[in-house]
Amino acid sequence: MVPKSKCGFAAKAKISCSHCEEICGTNFLSERVSNSQSQNAPFDINVRAILAFRGIGCGFSAMKERCGMINIPFVLTRNSYIEHNNRLEQGSMIAFKQMSQCRVHDGNP
Ligand SMILES: [Zn+2]
Repeated sequence: MVPKSKCGFAAKAKISCSHCEEICGTNFLSERVSNSQSQNAPFDINVRAILAFRGIGCGFSAMKERCGMINIPFVLTRNSYIEHNNRLEQGSMIAFKQMSQCRVHDGNP
């Protein structure tokens, strides 16, 4: 099994026969976030990486710099980062609105 290509931090591996090197299959080594069969659902590893860096107050540039420091190839594009980050923002706002509408807690978490 050899990593073939990457989509952000999600590596795509190819599985080939050790004798004749015929490729038996390829698959990404990270699951997609959505339960749907959409080809555009984000990879779990990419969303978690962005969430982790957001948690320490870092954005795209810091993420790229830190990956370089620990010799991890950084292939997430700025546009992908922005797209994933926007989804996380939307999710946070929805969760906040739901919490503020909770009758039990009367807007207090
Ligand atoms: Zn073979």
